[in-house]
Amino acid sequence: MSKVLIIDDSGVMRKIIQRNIVQAGLLVDQFVEAGDGREGLEKVKQNNDLNLILCDWNMPNMTGIEFVKAFRSSDKKTPVVMITTEGGETRTEEARNSGANGYLTKPFTTDQLLRKLGDYLLVK
Ligand SMILES: [Mg+2]
Repeated sequence: MSKVLIIDDSGVMRKIIQRNIVQAGLLVDQFVEAGDGREGLEKVKQNNDLNLILCDWNMPNMTGIEFVKAFRSSDKKTPVVMITTEGGETRTEEARNSGANGYLTKPFTTDQLLRKLGDYLLVK
């Protein structure tokens, strides 16, 4: 069983990510969605069996980087990959220093998604 939490303030983007995960042949049994970092933290509390968390950067209430920092203060293990339009070395560095395991820039191809997430999920 593998369960993935997708945190993004765009509902359309959350669906695009799910569709691409399926198309890439990555095996996920259940997707959990959250619209911002704050909701993400709530979902984390409700789901103690997450295999992977995918997190946008720019969101209202609590940004992705704020989420990663807050999440990492209690969970050092569950992998977090940021999927964001924010590119560049500085951002990537900040994400890694805050505890993100990976970084993917939007828009992404199914292949790029497979390469970034293949370490954390089983592939068909
Ligand atoms: Mg956003």
